[in-house]
Amino acid sequence: MRAVRVHEHGDFDVLRLEELPVPEPGPGEVRIRVAWAALNHLDTWVRRGVPGHRFPLPITLGCDFSGIVDAAGPGADDLSVGTRVAVAPGHACGNCPACASGRHNLCRRFGIYGETCDGGDADFAIVRRENLLPVPDGFPLDLAAAFPLTFLTAWHMLVGRCALRPGEKVLVHAAGSGVSVAAIQIARLWGARVMATAGNPEKLERARRLGAERTADYRREDWTEAARDWAGRGGLDVIVDHVGADTLPRGIWLLGRGGRLVTCGVTSGAEMKLNFAPIFFKSLSVLGSTMGGLGDQREVAEHVFAGRLEPIVDSRFPLEGVADAHRRVASREVFGKVLLEVDPTLV
Ligand SMILES: [Zn+2]
Repeated sequence: MRAVRVHEHGDFDVLRLEELPVPEPGPGEVRIRVAWAALNHLDTWVRRGVPGHRFPLPITLGCDFSGIVDAAGPGADDLSVGTRVAVAPGHACGNCPACASGRHNLCRRFGIYGETCDGGDADFAIVRRENLLPVPDGFPLDLAAAFPLTFLTAWHMLVGRCALRPGEKVLVHAAGSGVSVAAIQIARLWGARVMATAGNPEKLERARRLGAERTADYRREDWTEAARDWAGRGGLDVIVDHVGADTLPRGIWLLGRGGRLVTCGVTSGAEMKLNFAPIFFKSLSVLGSTMGGLGDQREVAEHVFAGRLEPIVDSRFPLEGVADAHRRVASREVFGKVLLEVDPTLV
């Protein structure tokens, strides 16, 4: 089978399309014939490497993918061969106190396909049975690959960590990113109001179509002024931040009493100077968030499959074009998900 492999970290040229034997599922595992995979920033980190962090190389990339059930290991054969599935990218031990309480992302053995073990940028992938999300008839498999990681992340940030309430004012940064595309929609689904920032007018127009009522182009205007004006005297209730150093320290000042800032990434830098005065004075919460539990994943999938949340596709590349797909993710033009077509005959 074909698989996108990384043997050593580096630029786009370290991505290798290799021939590997078709893997066999072990106990509790299922083999998926992959139809579509979707890229995330995580793929970029695994390809480039992260200082001080060790990835298990060589590795098959791909944390988001969809396909059909192809074979099952012992104890995992309750879904018939051919069942259409999406895959929850996060896997955990299933037995520890964190897992038992549904907080799989806090499990000490938590891992992500394509990051801690082989993923789905391949003709076949091995996943745990509990990670399968059966896809209803009529829901396309390309879209089924385009939502699990980002919609889970945004769902856990807003619903789990921030306990978002109707009518609250939410600022979402970097509107073109996969997590932000999901966050705008989830905030609207929850009855909250949304302002979005982005670096070009086209992305802002698309953010408005997803439900943002106010937008700010951070290259042309002071987004903090725009947010202050939009939020009014009460200030913002929630900020969804995965930009980090460039936005987070200033965002703190825009939150009203009881406001929450939730972060799932630091693309502009992890180290920053933060003034703690507004944090205690206004009873603010600064919340970290990574992925979510399998229950969160199933809940958000229900909304996606029912059409209440919409995966947004930026572009599609053949598996052979994986380097171009990575270039696209690295560009600042992307809006939504970049997909890899593995086997388009699977529908
Ligand atoms: Zn566990």
